[in-house]
Amino acid sequence: MESAEYHHYLDLLQWQIELGALEAISDTSVDRYDVPAALQKPKVAKPAAAAMLSTPPAAVDAVAEAERAAAAAGTLDELRAAMAAYDQCDLKKGARNMVFSDGIPGARVMVVGEAPGRDEDREGKPFVGRAGQLLDKMLAAIDMGRAHADAPVYITNILPWRPPQNRDPKPEEIAMMKPFLLRHIALAQPEVLVIVGNWSCQALLGKRGITRLRGTWTQAAGLPALPMFHPAYLLRSPEFKREAWADLLSLKAKLQNG
Ligand code: URA
Repeated sequence: MESAEYHHYLDLLQWQIELGALEAISDTSVDRYDVPAALQKPKVAKPAAAAMLSTPPAAVDAVAEAERAAAAAGTLDELRAAMAAYDQCDLKKGARNMVFSDGIPGARVMVVGEAPGRDEDREGKPFVGRAGQLLDKMLAAIDMGRAHADAPVYITNILPWRPPQNRDPKPEEIAMMKPFLLRHIALAQPEVLVIVGNWSCQALLGKRGITRLRGTWTQAAGLPALPMFHPAYLLRSPEFKREAWADLLSLKAKLQNG
């Protein structure tokens, strides 16, 4: 190498060192302008202008999907299958069983509870724990029951899967399961609804405040509906059983008088 050439390369090297290139990572230099085509960055096809202008694919709309699935169900068995196949509600992942209903479909009274607890999750049936036993006693007191030959009731919940640690239902869980509940009511064809507890009122009446709502007939899902204290609440606050008894008599009178 000529001395001039040597000094030219030394200058270039020093210039690189000033720029911060302190480490040689290869024994030989690489001419970046001469990299084989195969090693060059693959060209990414540019999306067509029209595609760039269109909106990105929407995330799955859980409520719309529930509405479609519920509407497509023509029988209670189909509805049960549609709910079992519905994957948008995360509660399903933590539940042992789906809790669909109990009692006699087509009964004049349909009771709508909140969500399965531990016992219901284990058995796959609504209201089988302590609260359920109280509900059975309450119904028996007005000569009704889930298996009563003459005066049966049909029972479901707003959520078919147990929330972890029995936490309150989330608004989005209620919203996505409500289309199934409404279809459930339409297919079971009760004459009246008994809405037990605050969350069931929230789902079907759009409001809470069971102490104020209970005992007053209203309309839900196009049917006469009676909000009542939840039996689990009555277990904790037995002093309100007097109000619950009044509501049961009101239910009985409604069924007798039409
Ligand atoms: N509470 C409810 O609301 N539903 C059940 O099935 C059990 C307890």
